[in-house]
Amino acid sequence: MPGITNGALGVSVEVPRPPAVRGRLVDRPVLGAQGEKRVLLAAPRGYCAGVDRAVIAVEKALDHFGAPVYVRKQIVHNVHVVSELEKRGAIFVDDVGEVPEGSHLVFSAHGVSPAVVAAAASRDLQAIDATCPLVTKVHREATRFAGQNKHILLIGHAGHEEVEGTMGHAPEQTTLVTSPDDVDTIELPAGVLAGTTELVWISQTTLSVDETMETVRRLRERFPQLQDPPSDDICYATQNRQVAIKKVARDAELVIVVGSANSSNSVRLVEVALENGARAAFRVDYASEIQQEWLDGVSSIGVTSGASVPEVLVEEVLADLADAGYGTVEVVKTAEEDLMFSLPKELRGDDRALGGRRS
Ligand code: SF4
Repeated sequence: MPGITNGALGVSVEVPRPPAVRGRLVDRPVLGAQGEKRVLLAAPRGYCAGVDRAVIAVEKALDHFGAPVYVRKQIVHNVHVVSELEKRGAIFVDDVGEVPEGSHLVFSAHGVSPAVVAAAASRDLQAIDATCPLVTKVHREATRFAGQNKHILLIGHAGHEEVEGTMGHAPEQTTLVTSPDDVDTIELPAGVLAGTTELVWISQTTLSVDETMETVRRLRERFPQLQDPPSDDICYATQNRQVAIKKVARDAELVIVVGSANSSNSVRLVEVALENGARAAFRVDYASEIQQEWLDGVSSIGVTSGASVPEVLVEEVLADLADAGYGTVEVVKTAEEDLMFSLPKELRGDDRALGGRRS
């Protein structure tokens, strides 16, 4: 019988299709009987407060101003979310220049550079800033460090929208570091090499914690004067999802991560699972992408989702796995999340609750 099991009590309940995750939570996975097919469901997973806020911002903009509402880049990196908002009248563009003058334009959760804000103003666009406040925090750090004449090492992925937005806040004083191996080859201004210009690192919010710390370790080897930022830039949601999948991966032969290919934190979850014990790990946008051969000889499957993934997509994966015989779902919970962000100021006054995971 498909069920959700509280491992501590051995209680299982029948779960309809698609299965709602309504079992009691366990702190750690219990050992299943040998060969017993089961799912280890990571928690936290899915929507973070910044994604929730950004998606609601587009929905509310459509409600208030009517379609079309333009959105610069994908509001969050998830094909399903973007597709659903397009059905409601959102138009996603790559460049501000594509937006008719005077229109409403939402900046995505990944943030924008001051140059993009200026370009929108020059076209008389009504901008709604859905940049995650935790990305805005990194922007402010970059601006402050640049004002102090420090050189900034930004650890992040080339071409990612968040990285472009952050670099745009201090373009002359920032050098991108994309990996630990990058450390040996980056070229820095003469003042840094002479020790007369201070050097500080910051990072993209959705990186692997372990890889970032390795990058910092190697940076410090080469540049002993390197300063730390005052607080973590890798956000709470990214860190919490990585901690949860690490615990799951220890007991899962296969890990399935629900998330889109351009979602940094989803891709990192696949890597973290593989680095922490999973024999195989795959990312899927939809349950239909699960390959039968992935399941051959597998008894324990870990499931999680990136921070931009609505829970309904995870429920569909659980339903398909239940159909394949993996009907027992043990929730592996490593943290509580209750962070909420208020709506962008252009949309305040709405009484809809924010934050937390939504389907
Ligand atoms: S993943 Fe982190 S930084 Fe990105 S939107 Fe969510 S909370 Fe904000």
